[in-house]
Amino acid sequence: MAIEARHINKAFGATPVLQDVSVEVPSGSLTALLGPSGGGKSTLLRVIAGLEQPDSGTVLIAGADVTRLAPQRRNVGFVFQHYAAFKHMTVFDNIAFGLQIRKRPKNEIHKRVHELLELVHLDQFAKRYPAQLSGGQRQRMALARALAVEPEVLLLDEPFGALDAQVRKELRAWLRRLHDDVHVTTVFVTHDQEEAIEVADTIVVLAGGRVEQSGSPHEVYDNPANEFVMRFLGPVT
Ligand code: ADP
Ligand code: MG
Repeated sequence: MAIEARHINKAFGATPVLQDVSVEVPSGSLTALLGPSGGGKSTLLRVIAGLEQPDSGTVLIAGADVTRLAPQRRNVGFVFQHYAAFKHMTVFDNIAFGLQIRKRPKNEIHKRVHELLELVHLDQFAKRYPAQLSGGQRQRMALARALAVEPEVLLLDEPFGALDAQVRKELRAWLRRLHDDVHVTTVFVTHDQEEAIEVADTIVVLAGGRVEQSGSPHEVYDNPANEFVMRFLGPVT
């Protein structure tokens, strides 16, 4: 398993947000964390990333307990819905940033960034600034930036949530192809059932701070564990 979250509990004040959540993410998988808004998806992702401390429970990444490691010590890449780019830096420099602070040699950085630009189909945009990109291009840049330092796992929190329906659909298919190329273990959060079924090879349904079911899209769709999952994944009427 690339990620094992075990018995995670987290409350904000008196409100429990994650209740005894255990999730296993197989190495190399593209796992969707699916559930309704307010169900605890972002909180769980932030706990895995080390941006939020759980009240109890452990997070193993590649077998190592990282619960007490600072975020920058965990080898994870993170992309948010509302992407924060360095506005005064070019696309090239935004992607190169993580490599520069790791003091990688200049020629290595150059080679790696150009590989990444090709991977996310932004080769023509290296010298542009984030404000000169479309929303979809910006999220692709964010993915390249997250991938630059070769993270153990890639965590995407509704990465396409702010984009319009057409671009969203294109990026879904693109993410699937990217994953087939790169094979980095990826967890992506979505509240969109169709998106999860189309893109993921594993689905974890999280609602009300609890895991309702996990399995392949086929298993979850055809054999819902309970009425909630059945209604949530069922045909929209
Ligand atoms: P989701 O991503 O599934 O929409 P979240 O993890 O963002 O769910 O939120 C789950 C619940 O936790 C919500 O009720 C939300 O209001 C609450 N919550 C999230 N972050 C905080 C916070 N920093 N302080 C207080 N409550 C929070
Ligand atoms: Mg969220």
